[in-house]
Amino acid sequence: MRVFVALELPQKAKDNLERSARQFADFANGGNFVPKENLHLTLHFLGNVEQSDLIYVQSAMDSVAGTPAPTLAVTRFAMQRTGDIVWAKIRQSEELTELHRRLGDDLEKNGFEVEHRAFRPHVTLIRRKSFTLPFSEVTKNVQVFNMPFAATRVTLFESVFGAQGVTYRPLYTVELKA
Ligand code: ATP
Ligand code: MG
Repeated sequence: MRVFVALELPQKAKDNLERSARQFADFANGGNFVPKENLHLTLHFLGNVEQSDLIYVQSAMDSVAGTPAPTLAVTRFAMQRTGDIVWAKIRQSEELTELHRRLGDDLEKNGFEVEHRAFRPHVTLIRRKSFTLPFSEVTKNVQVFNMPFAATRVTLFESVFGAQGVTYRPLYTVELKA
């Protein structure tokens, strides 16, 4: 199954990202807007993992349970390098970097491959974007709700592709210390 580990976002944060997304929509002539309930911050994408190996993902997650919850804040909206995805960039913080690193180390100890590219924390908002104006013009009309919020839940999701597009099925969650 296709799985990844992500920070869940509090409802208020998803509401605010949705408000920004609606402002982007005024300038869109296409693109796939991520449904509000799917908004998340990926920590580690694992790809295809056997069901019987999920316990090793869970034990890596257990090792970060109770560690400090990162305080997240949106800094700005940006295009991903490939140019067709719009991200909400998330401010780096000690807690977030540390959570990502510890979880990655423990996943590796348990036999999973994790990416060693620089971690660029983000929430994907729009895929295959297409706007009526240059992106730099569009963002001038989009409000950034930059109020910080605590992300206290690390969840293992299965990514399921179906008729309704992609849905994420939560399989396991650990709580961080707020
Ligand atoms: P779709 O690919 O159908 O548009 P999706 O990207 O939301 O939907 P997945 O591809 O299963 O669904 O990805 C789940 C999460 O993992 C997303 O946050 C995605 O950005 C991230 N992700 C996917 N592939 C990779 C990868 N190769 N490296 C890092 N993160 C990835
Ligand atoms: Mg994808």
